[in-house]
Amino acid sequence: MSKHFDFIAIGGGSGGIATANRASMRGMKCAIVEAKFLGGTCVNVGCVPKKAMWFAGQIADAFKYAPDYGFDATVKGLDWGKLVASREAYISRIHGSYDRVLGNNGVAVINGFGRFVDAHTIEVDGETYTADHILIATGGRPQIPDVPGAELGIDSDGFFALTEQPKRVLVVGAGYIAVEIAGVFNALGSETHLAVRKHKPLRNFDPMLADTLVEVMAEDGLNLHTDATPKAVHQHDDGSLSMETESGEMIGPVDSLIWAIGRDPATDNINLKAAGISLDSRGYIPTDKFQNTEIAGIYAVGDNTGRAQLTPVAVAAGRRLAERLFDGREGLHLDYEQIPTVVFSHPPIGTLGLTEPEAIEIHGEENITVYNSQFTAMYSALTEHRQPTKMKLICLGEEQKVIGIHGIGFGMDEILQGFAVAMKMGATKADFDATVPIHPTSAEEFVTLS
Ligand code: FAD
Ligand code: NDP
Repeated sequence: MSKHFDFIAIGGGSGGIATANRASMRGMKCAIVEAKFLGGTCVNVGCVPKKAMWFAGQIADAFKYAPDYGFDATVKGLDWGKLVASREAYISRIHGSYDRVLGNNGVAVINGFGRFVDAHTIEVDGETYTADHILIATGGRPQIPDVPGAELGIDSDGFFALTEQPKRVLVVGAGYIAVEIAGVFNALGSETHLAVRKHKPLRNFDPMLADTLVEVMAEDGLNLHTDATPKAVHQHDDGSLSMETESGEMIGPVDSLIWAIGRDPATDNINLKAAGISLDSRGYIPTDKFQNTEIAGIYAVGDNTGRAQLTPVAVAAGRRLAERLFDGREGLHLDYEQIPTVVFSHPPIGTLGLTEPEAIEIHGEENITVYNSQFTAMYSALTEHRQPTKMKLICLGEEQKVIGIHGIGFGMDEILQGFAVAMKMGATKADFDATVPIHPTSAEEFVTLS
């Protein structure tokens, strides 16, 4: 006999856990099916371990600045094993807190891989479970290119599994993950190569951000290879690797090659056909703004829906879904516009709303006013390692409504969140200017631009 629940989430990552917790708090009998570890990508092989590695890079950067602040500090080296052990211990504590919260909320955790039997039935390791409402929150997995020797490289999951720091590393890709991992390795002292197949990384971000990042990369000794489309990976006798590009360049030898070229949705192995759900051409699950799939009672949130692949997006969409379904909040849904995001590069990038080229294309150049600022972050200005900060506000029409906020520089990862509230509320340049600045900070530049 099948066990019955009001609500089952397939996938215990950011979206599944948030939705099940919220549904259970509204009195529903809930279960989560998780094949690997609670917390999903973000907690185990994404945001959390990545941020830990980024912090390690920040500490390494601080050692560079230390002498000019008067410190006579000698750093003997980095114990990679210790760093990984501290990181994983922190993740274990997060697992413990998930167990506690899910337990307190009475959410059952079913360990195993879930597949649809029909629109209301899931099979896990030979047991079947039925539910009135089923959420598909299966996330995604890293892509590996189809080139000879690709299997010699690792992906972002493999990055987190490294037990030793590679002395020489090649990261291939041009998005968040490539930029972040390359930045970590470079800050921690590996000889770092970043190969992008076009002219620069982060091509879809505001040009000021990517261009400044490229300048800082060069200054910091990171080897950026542009127009470097992967053709093949070759292994040398000593086990090291080189990547051959379409244009004939040979990048390497390196001790580790990391693919960071995007992620595929985990939707191809859960028997969606049995539930009556079709995928779009890229393998994502089509949903409406309420996270409904084409089949009543089946929903999807998170990375497998093809929208912004960010943890807070999966969480917010899931919580709103639970409140709409189980708390009578009819019409509640996530607004996917104006999602703030940070790239944990060195230095970090914060970005929200339209880029300058997008604003001009959508609204016409004559309707856009752009304010720019550029300065040396004070933290580094006292030292030989001066680091640029650049900021931009994009405003629309006569009232100068703020429709884009972009920045790169020290502290940008923490600066953006508050400004995102202002922009969401429809703030204008005059509202920004009417705000008393906090001095001396980098953030104050956003309210003193002229
Ligand atoms: P996931 O968190 O991936 O969860 C899906 C879960 O479903 C997994 O645990 C998986 O094991 C399970 N599963 C899949 N299929 C089945 C099945 N059939 N049965 C049972 N279980 C199944 N986002 C940010 O906002 N900030 C960041 O700094 C950030 N950094 C990142 C760094 C990296 C390296 C990566 C890879 C991602 C990062 N992200 C970041 C993105 C973020 O991790 C994802 O957007 C988020 O985890 C998506 O949540 P989700 O619930 O859709 O999927
Ligand atoms: P992205 O989709 O962000 O970037 C991958 C990029 O790699 C593509 O845009 C493309 O850039 C390039 N690329 C694609 N195919 C190839 C190929 N065959 N060879 C070489 N380069 C290729 O993917 P990521 O894997 O970086 O990250 C996935 C998502 O996870 C992100 O979009 C983000 O939503 C989320 N994430 C968020 C983070 C955060 O919030 N800080 C951190 C990490 C991930 P081009 O076309 O320019 O070549």
